[in-house]
Amino acid sequence: MNAVVQAVAETRHLLSGNEAVARAVWEAGVKVAAAYPGTPSTEILENIALYPDVYSEWAVNEKVSIEVAIGASIMGARAFCAMKHVGMNVASDAFMTQTLAGVVGGLVIVVTDDVGLSSSQNEQDSRYWGRFGHMPILEPADSQEAYEMVKGAFALSEELNSPVIVRMTTRVCHVKAMVTVGERETHEPAGFEKDPARWVLTPAAARARIPWMFERDGKLREFAEASALNRIVEGGDRRVGFLTSGPAAMHVQEAFPDAPLFKLGFSCPAPIGRIRAFAGTVERLVVVEEGEPLLEQELKAAGIDCHGKDILPRMGEMGPDVLLPAVKPLLGEPWEAPVGHRRQSLFPRPPTMCVACPHLGPYFTLSRLRNVIISGDIGCYTLGAGHPWNALDTTISMGASMGVALGMDKGRGATDGKKAVVAVIGDSTFLHMGMQGLLDITYNRGNVTVLLLDNRAVGMTGGQDHAGTGRDIHGEEAPRVDFVKLVQALGVKPERTHVVDPYELPTLFKVLRQETKIEEPSVIITNQPCVLIDDYEKHQPYKVVDEACTGCGNCLDVGCPAIFVTRRDKAVKPSGKEVDLAFVRIETAACTGCNLCVETCAPDAIVHAAPTHSVKFQ
Ligand code: SF4
Ligand code: SF4
Repeated sequence: MNAVVQAVAETRHLLSGNEAVARAVWEAGVKVAAAYPGTPSTEILENIALYPDVYSEWAVNEKVSIEVAIGASIMGARAFCAMKHVGMNVASDAFMTQTLAGVVGGLVIVVTDDVGLSSSQNEQDSRYWGRFGHMPILEPADSQEAYEMVKGAFALSEELNSPVIVRMTTRVCHVKAMVTVGERETHEPAGFEKDPARWVLTPAAARARIPWMFERDGKLREFAEASALNRIVEGGDRRVGFLTSGPAAMHVQEAFPDAPLFKLGFSCPAPIGRIRAFAGTVERLVVVEEGEPLLEQELKAAGIDCHGKDILPRMGEMGPDVLLPAVKPLLGEPWEAPVGHRRQSLFPRPPTMCVACPHLGPYFTLSRLRNVIISGDIGCYTLGAGHPWNALDTTISMGASMGVALGMDKGRGATDGKKAVVAVIGDSTFLHMGMQGLLDITYNRGNVTVLLLDNRAVGMTGGQDHAGTGRDIHGEEAPRVDFVKLVQALGVKPERTHVVDPYELPTLFKVLRQETKIEEPSVIITNQPCVLIDDYEKHQPYKVVDEACTGCGNCLDVGCPAIFVTRRDKAVKPSGKEVDLAFVRIETAACTGCNLCVETCAPDAIVHAAPTHSVKFQ
């Protein structure tokens, strides 16, 4: 069980933005908090779960997390949910309606945008949801602001009778800074009041709420114009002024310390009146936005002249190295990198799977199959698209592997007629959004073989528990999904359902070959845990006997990072064909003895080494 945070009032702590949000949620008297893990938002709920007086849960997906929060708000309790930007797409169906009904207890959604795509399939600007859903957006620039804005957002939500979105970016989520914190407030739930005209949003009821929502829009504009969260940082050099929000404000101050800056904290709706007044005080206005030219377009529509994406890039962070060369020419000061200045780039290191990852076997197997098209999904298994497996043909979005595979099956032409369609998905992703896709495959009699890689964790975000692990967010025992029963309930025949050890390559090959030849839906569930969770058991490690290694390189195709090439060479076969050789060694201290590479080595050059860690002998 997690240790419980001893919260101390009115003290300063070094907190990341995510930790500061968790503290603010606790202090705001929130009763219910829910989320699905997703970088860069994951640590928010992990930290809220440390406070015993907040009910917290990993929901199966973002839509359910917001539904849980909505339900708590309807009961009059303060409620919270967090998600990454792509999670907002999943959640949007619920909150696009909830905005019409409004809130009872304060309802706050923190959405974290992965600006620069450090760990996401796209870059998305969540500020649009505020305009789309008629909701206010707050944008903190650092941990202290994240704490203050989230805490204030609950009061704002109740005052405006609206859910409030707090938009953060990776930089605010993960950078640590000193934060002065306070005490927990008490907010007893007001209690449920029956009001079907408000809570049962039939077309007639929803239509009646729309004028109310437009009226609230007017109030939101007044709040934004008056908000102290929108503030001007004075500067003496009025040749250029900046309008920005979030951490971009810090970058602007670093790059142009003497320029006036209008920093938006309450950024939706945009305080057009105050921006117009500010624009009148500077010679040129530059809008610095991390994401889309959203404010820029609103300003131009309002007749306010400004620069923006005409000089700045459309993606990534707006650091000084981006701002200086873009804005200096406007001032007639062409920017040249200082002598000796070199844009620092990290040594490129492609992402790879862990030593002995239970997904290595399935991807090795898939890479050896011919005439297959493989529809992949989000999570660790996306790495199967990389070297040496090259075993994924598509990855679109969370849970999409199932529906995409069905579409591939139904949409195939004569050239692909003989190819098998395989879908690969992880346990958590399957529960998140994959189940419906499998139901669609069985219902519509799709010819798809599904590999459900159950590693008993949300591996990519750090091994969080979920409904398939048997533990809840506090590490307490919880009901565990039975995947065999679940897939059969979704229509997969018992004889087409298999559970396979992913380290047993011959069985994996046999079952996969067999199922891809049968023209009906089948599911192969792998049953070994992620190497990073407590349940993983290490075995005696292996080493390579140099004299026995022929340099065939077969073991390298498994993709285990504990296997290194020591020497390359060339050889000529009796047929006259030249072949490349790669002689290897195993990093014994890292090897977990999973046995995968051993099965690929024909001359038996891989043998047990002395144990480097406590092992289980079978
Ligand atoms: S046995 Fe081979 S594949 Fe498994 S961890 Fe060791 S080196 Fe990696
Ligand atoms: S599979 Fe065996 S022989 Fe081939 S490179 Fe690896 S250790 Fe050497």
